[in-house]
Amino acid sequence: MEELPTVEKMKYLALRIYNTWKCPFCEQYDETFDHLWTCNSRINEIKEIINEIKQFIKNTSNMLLINEEKIPTVTESAVDFINCWDITFSNSKITFIDLIKGIIPCELTKFVEEYFNIKNTRLTFLKELRDFIFEKIWAFWINRCVIQKEKEKNAGINKKLLKNNFNQNRNDYIDINRKIDTLNLFEGLESIRSNIYFGTNLQDFIMVVNYALVLLIFWGVRR
Ligand SMILES: [Zn+2]
Repeated sequence: MEELPTVEKMKYLALRIYNTWKCPFCEQYDETFDHLWTCNSRINEIKEIINEIKQFIKNTSNMLLINEEKIPTVTESAVDFINCWDITFSNSKITFIDLIKGIIPCELTKFVEEYFNIKNTRLTFLKELRDFIFEKIWAFWINRCVIQKEKEKNAGINKKLLKNNFNQNRNDYIDINRKIDTLNLFEGLESIRSNIYFGTNLQDFIMVVNYALVLLIFWGVRR
């Protein structure tokens, strides 16, 4: 997912063409992967997606509980409590950006463990949730591509021009938005890791280990 050809990614491929290009929506900031989801010009669309995902979690959970002949007890506040709904990039806590990347927050594994006793039900839930999130964020990305393509067309950028400029200045491009360097790589990874593994107590760690496989099988395939 992080490999989506954003404007910043395109600079690697054809710097001469995209050097001065910014986010096609706000036209103020570099269009990095993180900016794609946090751009102020599309904040309402992202909020709507988050609401739809929350609704999906609530409705699907309750439906699965009914199927298991249990009382549908999942409330909106239980879904809010999963606590991965912030629209921001963070080195130290799980946010909606991480969910898009396919990371399962520790609260989500707890949620699944709490409501579903049967392993197959947990897997069904996670698989359906993964598909739903993918469908929503993919549509969001396609909308972006429509706008970007229109702008490129107006600027006279076509396949031939791209081909002629492909890789010409690759070494000239310095990615100023790179957050991970040797200094913060370890800190960033460690804080995320401790958030995933040791969110509240040691029990979370055990749950994450159980779901590491699920993450690989179900969330990993489309990244
Ligand atoms: Zn923007």
